[in-house]
Amino acid sequence: MRIAAARAIPVRLRFTRPVRTAVGDFVERPSVLLALSDAEGFTGLGEAAPWPGFGTENLADALAALREVAAMLPGSEAELDRLPPPGIDRLRDAPAARAALEGALLDLEARRQGRPMADCLASRSAAGTGDALRVVAVNALLIERDPNVLREEAALARARGYRAAKLKLGAETLAEDVARAAAARAGLGPDVALRGDANGAWSVEKAREALAALAEFQFDYVEQPVAAADFAGLASLRGRAPVRIAADESVATGHGATRLIEAAAADVLVLKPAMLGGAAQALEIAARARRAGCEVVFSHAFESAVGAQHALHCAAAWGDTTTVHGLETAGLFVEDVGQPVESSGGFVGLSGGPGIGIDLDRALLRETGGAG
Ligand SMILES: [Mg+2]
Repeated sequence: MRIAAARAIPVRLRFTRPVRTAVGDFVERPSVLLALSDAEGFTGLGEAAPWPGFGTENLADALAALREVAAMLPGSEAELDRLPPPGIDRLRDAPAARAALEGALLDLEARRQGRPMADCLASRSAAGTGDALRVVAVNALLIERDPNVLREEAALARARGYRAAKLKLGAETLAEDVARAAAARAGLGPDVALRGDANGAWSVEKAREALAALAEFQFDYVEQPVAAADFAGLASLRGRAPVRIAADESVATGHGATRLIEAAAADVLVLKPAMLGGAAQALEIAARARRAGCEVVFSHAFESAVGAQHALHCAAAWGDTTTVHGLETAGLFVEDVGQPVESSGGFVGLSGGPGIGIDLDRALLRETGGAG
């Protein structure tokens, strides 16, 4: 594809409520959008959503790399199968910026072909089943602290048709986790899957104790019971714990995924295409995980609508109708750059438009116009 124009566009979205993480509360999400246009006027969009704690480059590096890309690509041929393009070596160690470039090229190619990006991905990749899905099941998020309010929140998720709901664990005390898990299960009833996420809060001993105490609430799986780097800890919990063990932070990089699969350290792998260099790489890791007997769940990384739609199309290309993914971003930000990923009845439908199915606000493109 011959690229006629390229722009790197820094954006900063404000969370509607602060997102609590192991390293503090975040009030906003900075990222960089990449817009690539061809001579016929098609524009493909990608996003770099760096998260250094997850193994990517930092924001400044991602922005510098994409500005370099934006300055270099116009007038040249860009190949999806030859990333990074010649001369842009700094993308090798910049998975977030790489995901933006790969994503923008894939979106552009799909728009030129007039079909959803998921179809384009599914036909390029040997990983999925071949046919991309039109609707993708997503889980609800249970975020209330107070068990009484949480029970209502869980009951609402069930009434809205979600097949699974996710609850953050790793509170100050185990009693608090148990009370919240009991409230979540009471609200969800017996048929909605309950997923836990401890974000690495526990030691192996603490995790054993917590998972035993939480067993009666029938968790589908518990994500990241121990720290990201503790592969041995994950492996020792898997099989012996009364619940399936999922890895999220531990699979932040392709290298981490390989180690995890080789060590048979998890039953479920949570894959964030934005952290893994893009959808193609994420699908390749997913295929390896499946061959090793692991379930794969795709997840967003708090990207804007652009990155969130990319993650959705990646999950659609994967083609697995039985898995519920963590992809919904509606309501996360005060204002987004386009249509966020929003479910109805527990499912998100692809918009049906070409590419990722959304267009950026023209004002956003104009304001930050030029070569980045
Ligand atoms: Mg997680």
